[in-house]
Amino acid sequence: MRISKLFIDRQVVDLPLTQSIQARLDVPAMIVQSARQVHEMVASTPDPVQSGKEILYLSRNQGAFFKRCPGTRHYTCCDYRILHIGTFCYMDCAYCILQTYFHPPVLEYFVNHEDLIAELDTVFAQKSIFRIGTGEFTDSLIWTLWTDVAKLLVDRFAAQEHAVLELKTKTTAIEQLQNLNHNRKTVAAWSLNTPKIIHSEERGTATISARIDAAARCEKWGYPLAFHFDPLIIYDGCERAYIRVIETLFSRLSAENMVWISLGTLRFPPPVKAVIQKRFPDSKIGYAEFVSGSDGKLRYFKPLRIHLYRKIIACIREHAPDVIVYLCMEDDEVWQKTLGFTPADVGGLSHMLDMSAAKHCHLNLDAIPESATTRTAGGLDFTATGGKRQGREVPQSLRVKPGAQHPVGKTQSKS
Ligand code: SF4
Repeated sequence: MRISKLFIDRQVVDLPLTQSIQARLDVPAMIVQSARQVHEMVASTPDPVQSGKEILYLSRNQGAFFKRCPGTRHYTCCDYRILHIGTFCYMDCAYCILQTYFHPPVLEYFVNHEDLIAELDTVFAQKSIFRIGTGEFTDSLIWTLWTDVAKLLVDRFAAQEHAVLELKTKTTAIEQLQNLNHNRKTVAAWSLNTPKIIHSEERGTATISARIDAAARCEKWGYPLAFHFDPLIIYDGCERAYIRVIETLFSRLSAENMVWISLGTLRFPPPVKAVIQKRFPDSKIGYAEFVSGSDGKLRYFKPLRIHLYRKIIACIREHAPDVIVYLCMEDDEVWQKTLGFTPADVGGLSHMLDMSAAKHCHLNLDAIPESATTRTAGGLDFTATGGKRQGREVPQSLRVKPGAQHPVGKTQSKS
């Protein structure tokens, strides 16, 4: 990571956080009148995407910090909420859709934290179950190099009992998470991939063993964990390679402490393909055969996605029959053929994940009718649990019902 210059919006020059970041970063700084000045400078360089990773722009978030994740109505989405602390990333993944999402993309951090805190207080006052992440438009932990944002958020979430914070990363920047009284309201999460993909497509990210080491340290510090195999990338030998990653994961970490594991195959809007070809000339990932999905994104053909998901899910189930696995941006057919149920069978994907968060993070379920927290499907019991109801612990767990055979196991043994 090489931040070579700091741009400071004139509106935030005097904020203490601006001054603190400036002192910690120690690079030349320039005060700008507006975002346009920064965007024009970045856009005028030969590789604006790369340039946008090498400067840091401090500004005021003019919109909302708390947002709905921009899912799509065409695929099952999980009703995730975003805490929009900043944009873009100094790491460099070939498939990263942020390369074309912003025009041009710029590493930008919002320093008006008084507004962020006020919005969070309003969210917490609703006493609804929320899963909130900072890792949709950026990596959650890169900002800990220059700010105390992880500590700020972990402390805030620890003091309430309805929402969980997910910090999703490809770094090992976990130092700030140590010695915090997190009250299990923060989930430490990693995106995982095979060593080959990390080496060739995820420049500047931590190795797979370093990510798992960092997760093990967080587990030791009492944090619940989550993992995202996303994007799964198809290449010769990929199935064996993903299985090795899964085996390593479960040899180091406790399945009982995993809130969820998501799976999603490679997908991107068409303009990203040209960016990959230009910026990652050795990359092969853009040359696979793709189909255009209902949301306009390019994806592998459905039978290929289903085949890979089945292999991976079967391996996860061997090691962790109870862990919640979900698919990112897939339709009911893919769910049924890989997991053996559809989200509707368990009250919706959002409900399924809320219940897992309730169990692992000890959320207060008073606001949810008891009848809505009991569901079974596909041999799995999605009863909510381990959370709290009217002050008492709810004893059941998300578990495979005794004697039930998971449908993926059945599917695999037939083929
Ligand atoms: S780590 Fe995430 S945000 Fe950063 S470049 Fe890779 S995909 Fe994009």
